Amino acid sequence: MKLDRKEINGYTYYELYIRCPEHCIRGISSPLGFCNHENCTGRMYIGDNANVRCEQCGDESRVDNWSIQCGGEKDVILMSCTATKKLDLSEVISIAGQIVSFTGMSWLKNYLEHLGEF
Ligand SMILES: [Zn+2]
Ligand SMILES: [Zn+2]
Repeated sequence: MKLDRKEINGYTYYELYIRCPEHCIRGISSPLGFCNHENCTGRMYIGDNANVRCEQCGDESRVDNWSIQCGGEKDVILMSCTATKKLDLSEVISIAGQIVSFTGMSWLKNYLEHLGEF
């Protein structure tokens, strides 16, 4: 399998295809799934500029401004910018690390660099 990749303004974005990071960190298994924007159901992408972007409505913000609503047993994860519980440091590293076999190491290094001091 291959994740869709887009170049936007010189940055490289990949579709987010992950397990719920909160469940992963707690050691509870959950299905792999694509992430959809809660507002418009568009597919979510993550860039090496440390931004998460909705391909449908273009809503884009730093990864730590997003929250994840786990689908439980379902293989779809919803993301929103409006919920109060944002992704924490271990979760923003988890979601990028989970797709590193698709992105390669240099993409991950750029992502971590753009994340900066968290
Ligand atoms: Zn959207
Ligand atoms: Zn979960």
